[in-house]
Amino acid sequence: MKIPFNKPYLTGKETDYIKEAVESQKISGNGVFTHKCQQFFENKYGIQKALLTTSCTDALEMAAILINIKDGDEIIMPSYTFVSTANAFVLRGAKIVFCDSRSDHPGIDENKIESLITSKTKAIVPVHYAGVACDMNKIMKLAKEYNLFVIEDAAQAIESYYTFPDGTTKALGSIGHLATFSFHETKNIISGEGGLLAINDSQFIQRAEIIWEKGTNRSAFFRGEIDKYGWVDIGSSFLPSEIIAAFLWAQLENLERIQNKRLEIWSFYKEQLKDLPIRVQSIPTYSTNNAHMFYIVTENSNDRKKIIKKLTDNGIGAVFHYLSLHTSEFYKSKYNGSELPLSDYYSNCLIRLPFFFNLTSQEQLKVCTLINSYF
Ligand SMILES: *Cc1c(COP(=O)(O)O)cnc(C)c1O
Repeated sequence: MKIPFNKPYLTGKETDYIKEAVESQKISGNGVFTHKCQQFFENKYGIQKALLTTSCTDALEMAAILINIKDGDEIIMPSYTFVSTANAFVLRGAKIVFCDSRSDHPGIDENKIESLITSKTKAIVPVHYAGVACDMNKIMKLAKEYNLFVIEDAAQAIESYYTFPDGTTKALGSIGHLATFSFHETKNIISGEGGLLAINDSQFIQRAEIIWEKGTNRSAFFRGEIDKYGWVDIGSSFLPSEIIAAFLWAQLENLERIQNKRLEIWSFYKEQLKDLPIRVQSIPTYSTNNAHMFYIVTENSNDRKKIIKKLTDNGIGAVFHYLSLHTSEFYKSKYNGSELPLSDYYSNCLIRLPFFFNLTSQEQLKVCTLINSYF
């Protein structure tokens, strides 16, 4: 029995909707399916304006353009994240200031951010790792005090929520000035490649539409607001075709069903692995769980290596995750901050277990039995 790490789940409606898009003869972007997907995010999550993009990487690049980064501006983000979180800002000439992770969770340590703020800091980019919320109350307070933008990397965070100390609950991706989601085939809701930019500060809406449409005011033209469109700003081709949006719509329609199944899988792992001498994923009280992944953290890298080997030898796709970006080949010579021991710890000791919609409890039991037998 081979168990892969990920297997994309199809609801069955994807090709019907793609056929519909193709037959409607409107297959470039910004059509019916694009609007359906964008409205879904706006209505369900209280996002002011949502724009579909061809990836979360692209949505991050749009965010970096929107906040007008100048050479030397500084962006604070965790080192334990995907390269795109940093690349989007590096492409615009920013300096990345990496912050360490929390001891109880790979997310950014909110209490270590303030000491990294300088007169050049422009934005904080929290990453909701595994769909678990960063402490957004602390982060938004700092941003207000120092006049910074907050861009949530919510790539993994669809259908996850944060509760503020006053009891109000908001969807991840609806809190920062801007936020980005991913529909890459490894995420909960997929379109192969795909993403979304969420705009929660209305000052960005008009310009975002222009950047999205190659630096033209074509969106306003299509709405009949102006009688011709032209080149008005920098931009690129950030919008996906209707074929991608049609696929995505089939997934979004089934969000609840997909999420319920993923939560079952998550709880099963948690129950099976709770008594082992390893750390299993935990959720802070202010965050919900969206069952994006299930990970365990070993005490040392040697244990991790041996557990991954044991699983791999038995046909199971268990994998490590990010390598700290501050020690990466590309950034280590540019990095002049302090050591980030917790980020390095997760780089060395975190294991992600197979996680996908059609994973059976029998398969999960096999994974857990092998991990059990290691200890
Ligand atoms: C997946 C992911 C991305 C990149 O998303 P793409 O849609 O593949 O560009 C960025 N940041 C994080 C935290 C991710 O998990």
